[in-house]
Amino acid sequence: MYTTCAFCNAKLDGDGGPSGLGVGRRIAFDEFKGRLWVICPKCARWNLTPLDDRLERIETVARAAREAKLLAATEQVALLRWQVYDLVRVGKPPRIELAPWRYGERLKARQQERLKYVIPLTVAAVGLGIAANVAAGGSLGVFVWNLHRLGEGLYITVVGNRKVNLAEPPICPSCGTLLELRAKHVQHARVVPDAHADIAVIVSCPRCRQEAAQLTGSDAHAVLRQGLSYLNARRAGRRRAEEAAQVVDHAGGPDRLIRDVARRELTLRSLRPERRLALEMAVDEQAEVQELEHEWRDAEELADIADGTLSSNAEIEEELRRLKGRGGNQPDG
Ligand SMILES: [Zn+2]
Ligand SMILES: [Zn+2]
Repeated sequence: MYTTCAFCNAKLDGDGGPSGLGVGRRIAFDEFKGRLWVICPKCARWNLTPLDDRLERIETVARAAREAKLLAATEQVALLRWQVYDLVRVGKPPRIELAPWRYGERLKARQQERLKYVIPLTVAAVGLGIAANVAAGGSLGVFVWNLHRLGEGLYITVVGNRKVNLAEPPICPSCGTLLELRAKHVQHARVVPDAHADIAVIVSCPRCRQEAAQLTGSDAHAVLRQGLSYLNARRAGRRRAEEAAQVVDHAGGPDRLIRDVARRELTLRSLRPERRLALEMAVDEQAEVQELEHEWRDAEELADIADGTLSSNAEIEEELRRLKGRGGNQPDG
């Protein structure tokens, strides 16, 4: 087994877990086409594993996947967590059960980022506060509290000013300027229904404030992820993560929640806070799993060529037929 990525040469991390490959922390598999990949931690490309004993390895990975926790899924691709491994199963997923701890992890990361702004100012405040107290006998608590809020405000300003990178920034039809969106501008955006896309969002021009363009696909994801994390930056906590997971779950999964929000066509800032957080989580899930699906399509194309040239092996064909025949509840292809 190779130990470095065939595309970028980076070291493949992990030990392969159930696959027994010796490498890989994120492992993708297609039980029915007999494909097994190690996903590179650096470039995210899919490395097809050698054919020799691949089918056996797939069986053990698939067994682990049946005990794994489903994190997110599209029609074709499911992202599962088993122990410390991410398993990406290609094929039709079972009903989605969302994992609140995953949302908790994301909010924790945000909390840590926020503290980078709050702590230095608060530490400075304590020093200054003592000095001020000695000098004037003023209230130390109030002083520290105000600086703490200043740190929060600073953090939110930084998040709000982050530039949104679009693949193709549109030009405003009203005032003719190129849309240069920052996270804070997205609060006026609306998620809307679109018959041809999983997600669509109408953004307003920061210059003239007219609605300027309808974005779909990865641009819609980029806009919403940044806009919503700005709007949701004020409050965090484990309880909120659970609430958000529940909202997504009750709606019937990330895609359904997004459709639900789209039907109402409200601006992001007028959504209820718990719904807004749920939408952020849902968009994150959808974006991640769609990215995986995209990578899989590329990888599958390569695998087709690689396997096709490596084996027109009757034994493997037979084994594949056996596997296919066994799984009654799986879709074709
Ligand atoms: Zn790589
Ligand atoms: Zn404009």
